[in-house]
Amino acid sequence: MNDAFYERIHAELRDIDAKGLTKPERVLMSAQGPLVEIAGSPRPVINLCANNYLGLANDPRVVEASIEATRKWGAGLASVRFICGTQDIHKQLEASIAAYLGFEDAILFAAAFDANGGIFEPLLGEQDAIISDSLNHASIIDGVRLCKAKRYRFANNDMNELESLLKQARSDGARTIMIATDGVFSMDGTIANLGAITALAQRYDALTLIDDCHATGFLGPGGRGSAAFRGVEGKIDIITGTFGKALGGAMGGFIVARKAVVDLLRQRARPYLFSNALTPAVCGASLAAIDIAKSEDGEQRRARIVGNAKRFRATMTAAGFDLLPGEHPIIPVMLGDAPKAQRMAAALLKAGVLASGFSFPVVPVGKARIRTQMSAALTPDQVDEAARIFTDVGREIGVIS
Ligand SMILES: *Cc1c(COP(=O)(O)O)cnc(C)c1O
Repeated sequence: MNDAFYERIHAELRDIDAKGLTKPERVLMSAQGPLVEIAGSPRPVINLCANNYLGLANDPRVVEASIEATRKWGAGLASVRFICGTQDIHKQLEASIAAYLGFEDAILFAAAFDANGGIFEPLLGEQDAIISDSLNHASIIDGVRLCKAKRYRFANNDMNELESLLKQARSDGARTIMIATDGVFSMDGTIANLGAITALAQRYDALTLIDDCHATGFLGPGGRGSAAFRGVEGKIDIITGTFGKALGGAMGGFIVARKAVVDLLRQRARPYLFSNALTPAVCGASLAAIDIAKSEDGEQRRARIVGNAKRFRATMTAAGFDLLPGEHPIIPVMLGDAPKAQRMAAALLKAGVLASGFSFPVVPVGKARIRTQMSAALTPDQVDEAARIFTDVGREIGVIS
């Protein structure tokens, strides 16, 4: 027992709270969906903050596939993949996601966080360079930290700075240069400028890696993600992604790449080598979700996401809200200061909408916001109802007049 240590922890918690930065966890009493029951809320609320883009998290086909997989393959493997933790369902899921995204091979991880944490170190060493977007996900930042390659960072989506860093890395003598970017930046909903990025990669003989967690399954033709959206499929070397968002929403990460890259990752990626195999339930759910994403039903779901996003944007803009422009179902409602965003989120919940307020350090100081996310599971009526509640609450709090 070290009293000073526990005092320090308490002080840190008090400090987080005093700054209004404590992130409470709301307890759902129901499955994930367009309406959720929340402990302490008198009635179900409209959910605008899940990454359940295709609305498959509680889809009966996905749930059934997950149950079936558990019946057939058991609860889990009690092993990492290379000892005795590989079942045919893991191979099926790797083949399915690789084929869907048009890559030679795929490798599974417990989470996309692990995929990003494990990818850089085996592929790049001291003689190499990673050029990373400043708004990249925390897991890319951590993965880059674990790797010995020289690091370069460009301002979000700044293609001029990216080019000057490519020149810099070349003149610094880099053996291999890898550009790493989120396909979609989750706080703003902006889609990476992959046309320019792949053109620059070609000019400077660099590799490209994108983290497509907020795109796989629903963005671009066939839902094949931000590369498809930008028309540069086939020009990306490596994509990392998740089964925990649009593709069923269970959990689990993956990397798709050329076979040799995947082969090396199976030998060297530490979160793969030293962590349990994905549970069969997750594999079954994810396989079913990929099948739906590729189907006519998936096409209709993607159309509903786009329709809901247009509808919400139009109504909210007409009501006087300040939205970040964009083409993604992430629609940030800008509020400016952090306490206002918190008050707004709390009042929205009381009035029947679940949405999350984000403030510093997740977004820049003075750019606090409520991030809303559209889903194929929301009906147009629910979208309208959510906008109406936003409008009422926004007037009450003085965000709009
Ligand atoms: C959600 C997310 C992750 C983490 O995915 P998990 O599978 O939940 O670990 C990584 N990168 C980005 C860009 C994400 O949005």
